[in-house]
Amino acid sequence: MPEDNIKKDDLPPARAGGAQAGELDPELHRVAREKGTEAPFSGKYVNTHDKGMYKCAICGAELFSSDTKFDSGTGWPSFSEPVNLENIELREDLSQGVRRTEVLCKKCGAHLGHVFDDGPEDRRLPAGRQGKRYCINSVCLELEKHD
Ligand SMILES: [Zn+2]
Repeated sequence: MPEDNIKKDDLPPARAGGAQAGELDPELHRVAREKGTEAPFSGKYVNTHDKGMYKCAICGAELFSSDTKFDSGTGWPSFSEPVNLENIELREDLSQGVRRTEVLCKKCGAHLGHVFDDGPEDRRLPAGRQGKRYCINSVCLELEKHD
C-alpha cells in the first residue's frame, strides 16, 4: 500500500491539564480510541471498593455503579451490569480470532472493554440479565465517590 494511503492520526499530542478532545492522556487514547487493553492488574480501579459512580473518563457519562463491581480475578475492573443500558453500546468484535462483545460509551464512542457471559449470579437482576461480566479498562473510567 502506498504510504499516502495510510490514515494519519491528526490529533495533537496530549497536553497536561487539557480536557478537550484530542488532548487525552496517551494511555487513555491508546485504549479508548485505538481499542487497546491496559495490562492486567495495572489499572487504578482493579481493587477499588469505594462507593460511587464510574463515569466515562472522556465524556463523563454514567457507566457503572460500584454496587455492581465484583472481584473477578482477571486483573480488570469487572461489573455485573451497566448503570443504564442506554449509556453503553454493544458491538460484535471478531478481532484476534475470537468472537467477543465490545463495550463502548454510547455518548462519545470510547472503547471501554468487553462483556462476557461468565459473570456471577446477581439475585437483584432479572433472569435475562444474569451472569454478565463487564470487563472494563480502568483508564476509561473516572470514579466519582459518594458515601
Ligand atoms: Zn464517553
